[in-house]
Amino acid sequence: MNADLPVVLSRSQHPVSRKLIDPDALWILRRLRREGHLAYLVGGAVRDLMLGREPKDFDVGTDARPSQIRRLFRNCRLIGRRFRLAHVYFRRKGEPEKIVEVSTFRGRGTWEGTEDIPPEDLDFTGNVFGSPEEDAWRRDFTINGLFYNLDDFTVIDYVGGLADLDRGEIRLIGNAEDRFPEDPVRMLRAVEFAARLGFRIEKATEAGIRAHAERIAESSPARLREELRQLQQRGIMAPVLAEAHRLGLLQPLLPEVAVVEGVLPMLEYLDRKAADGRPAPEAAYLAALVLPTMAARQPLEPGVSLEAAQAALGPPVGALTRRYQISAHIRHTAKDLLLSCYRLARGKAYRTKGKFVRKPEFPDAWSFFRAWAGVCGDLDEAVAYWERYLADRDKGAGGTGGGKRRRRRRRKPRPADTGGAQ
Ligand code: ATP
Ligand code: MG
Repeated sequence: MNADLPVVLSRSQHPVSRKLIDPDALWILRRLRREGHLAYLVGGAVRDLMLGREPKDFDVGTDARPSQIRRLFRNCRLIGRRFRLAHVYFRRKGEPEKIVEVSTFRGRGTWEGTEDIPPEDLDFTGNVFGSPEEDAWRRDFTINGLFYNLDDFTVIDYVGGLADLDRGEIRLIGNAEDRFPEDPVRMLRAVEFAARLGFRIEKATEAGIRAHAERIAESSPARLREELRQLQQRGIMAPVLAEAHRLGLLQPLLPEVAVVEGVLPMLEYLDRKAADGRPAPEAAYLAALVLPTMAARQPLEPGVSLEAAQAALGPPVGALTRRYQISAHIRHTAKDLLLSCYRLARGKAYRTKGKFVRKPEFPDAWSFFRAWAGVCGDLDEAVAYWERYLADRDKGAGGTGGGKRRRRRRRKPRPADTGGAQ
């Protein structure tokens, strides 16, 4: 431990202001304090406020036990099998539901084997709960280990996070030999925070990732999928997977991606949609991840048979969606998008063009295909063919984009009809 720690910044020494903190989180902090508990704003919110960014959510740390938290907040649910934490819910008309996470400070003890013990008693079994300082040391990166104390408006740093915020570094708390195997998802999170904040990964942390990269495959698929979804929502899949590739994380994370070349520009294409406020769906990211690998095995070319294409795309998409327990609906959508690329590659030779271009999913498939054509460089002819085809069709329809022979089939609404929701 560093003798200069903790560092405590007074109100005039930092930019965190109450005005920037969610009012519901403030209400929870005050309520806990009134009841005589310690309560700090913790984790990502303090980091983001220190950086002048808007936090995504506000987490609270307290010395109140889960059962005490539950008694204090009626709108509260305890979650987590190992370490119980509380979700306090706020539901207001016309607003999305909000959850503030309230967790008891963790100690050095392990929570293995404590699942069946009532939360009230957990602390007698092995220091599962602890002091704020111990809690800070259990967190993942120094920049995520800061506390904000509403009582005196100080920022408290037990782990050297303030110095790393200044340096722009992602530094693992503690020793990589212990902390990456303990929870390998931390390796992906390191890369994610580096991309999000424009930070470097500190040298020993980076060496730790390289040394333990293979173990990412041991993490819970559900958690990994959740992290990957966050990257997609934020539109940072390309930079994060590029860095993951450099550090040896990509292969164990996504073994289906055998051909990495071409994947990154496709991810960049999809990431740009998030920047425009319309993040691409998970199915499109799945398709982008496997398309270059598939194209190497079954080239997209005018003579390609759609049966052969379908047979080629089944195994990689199936493996990827099984690993991450992704629904059949998303799997089908991803396969459809890939198959559309083969249809488009067939160009003139593809027969049911009229029906194809009228499908609601056509515009996205067409845009996806053009992005891939730009990456691989040998589909120019097919692109030119379809551009002509679409332009002719639009002319024929008087520019409405509809198509002359378009028929609408009407269906009598039945009483139980939900109004065409898909
Ligand atoms: P975001 O802006 O994505 O919410 P965050 O830092 O708040 O970033 P969360 O996943 O919400 O990230 O986690 C909240 C806090 O919990 C983190 O800041 C960190 O202190 C701690 N934490 C999260 N995951 C881990 C982990 N795997 N190991 C140790 N501590 C973790
Ligand atoms: Mg958070």
